[in-house]
Amino acid sequence: MKKGKVVFAIHGGAGSFNVPPEKEQEYRDTMRMAIRAGKERLDKNDSAAVAVEAAIRILEDSVLFNAGKGAVFTNDATHELDASIMYGENLQAGSVTGVKHIKNPITLAHKVIKNSPHVMLAGEGAEKFGIEQGMEPVTQDYFYSNRRWQSLMESKNRLDETDEFGTVGAIALDKNENLAAGTSTGGLTNKAVGRIGDSPTIGAGTYANNEGVAVSATGKGEVFMRGTAASDINALVQYQNWSIENAATEVVERKLPVLGGTGGVIALNRQGHFAAPHSSQNLLYGYVTEEDEIVIDLFPEKVT
Ligand code: ASP
Repeated sequence: MKKGKVVFAIHGGAGSFNVPPEKEQEYRDTMRMAIRAGKERLDKNDSAAVAVEAAIRILEDSVLFNAGKGAVFTNDATHELDASIMYGENLQAGSVTGVKHIKNPITLAHKVIKNSPHVMLAGEGAEKFGIEQGMEPVTQDYFYSNRRWQSLMESKNRLDETDEFGTVGAIALDKNENLAAGTSTGGLTNKAVGRIGDSPTIGAGTYANNEGVAVSATGKGEVFMRGTAASDINALVQYQNWSIENAATEVVERKLPVLGGTGGVIALNRQGHFAAPHSSQNLLYGYVTEEDEIVIDLFPEKVT
C-alpha cells in the first residue's frame, strides 16, 4: 500500500475480539477524534510527546478501550492501570504502574518525565506524586463497566486467560523531526493484583529513539517483556538498517509467537514510514499523513 508520510498513529489493542457491527461507528469516531487531537497538536508545532498524550487521553476517557475509564478488572475485581511515554530525542521516559485512582495515567506518566528525576513510579507512590502534581484522584467505581465485569466473570468461569482487547497507544513525529511513543492499559482481565505488564515497561511495550523508531505494543505483556519487543524492533532499524516493516514483522510475527504470545505493534520512523503488523486475530489501528489523510483499520489482514 502506497501512503504519504505518516506523522501520527494510534492503536486500540490487539486480540481475538472483532468490533461488532453496531459498535463500528463508535470505534471509528473515537479513534478519529484521538487521531485528530494528536495531529492538531503537531500542526500547532507542539512536541510529539504532547500529541501522544493528547490522543491517549481521549482513548482513556472512552469506555470502549482497555485504558483509563474502560480498564479491565484484576482477579480481585479491582482496577490497576499502567502507562508509559518516551521521547525519541533524548530517550527520556516516564512510566506509572498499578495506579488505582488516576483518571488519565498517560498524563501522570508524562509528568514523571517532566517533574521527577525518575523513570517509573508504582502504586501508592505514583498516586501521591500525581496528587502533588495537582491531579484529581477518582474512586475505583469510576472504572466500572458492565462489559469488563462480564469479561471477568467469563474469565473466572473458564479458568483461563481471556484475550481481552483494547490497550491503547500512540506514536508521533513532530515538526522538529522528533519521535515519541506512549501506551496505556488496564492490563489483562483477571490478572493477579500487583502484576506488571509490558505497557509501562520501557523497551517492552513502549520505545522511542530518533535514530530508530517509535513503537507502541499491545498483546500478551509477559511475552513482549521477555522478548524486549519494542527495543528489539528499534535495534533492528537503528543498528541493522532493517526497514521498519521488516523489523516490526520479524519481532511480532516470528519472535513473539515462539515465546508463546501474540499481539501487534504500531511503529514509525523519522522518514514517516509506518508499520502495524500483528500476530493476534486482530489489531485496531489508525494513522494520519502529513497531508491529513486519515486511515482507520478495524479489521486488518494478517500477513502470515
Ligand atoms: N499488553 C497489555 C498487558 O499485557 C495488554 C494488552 O495489550 O491488551 O498488560
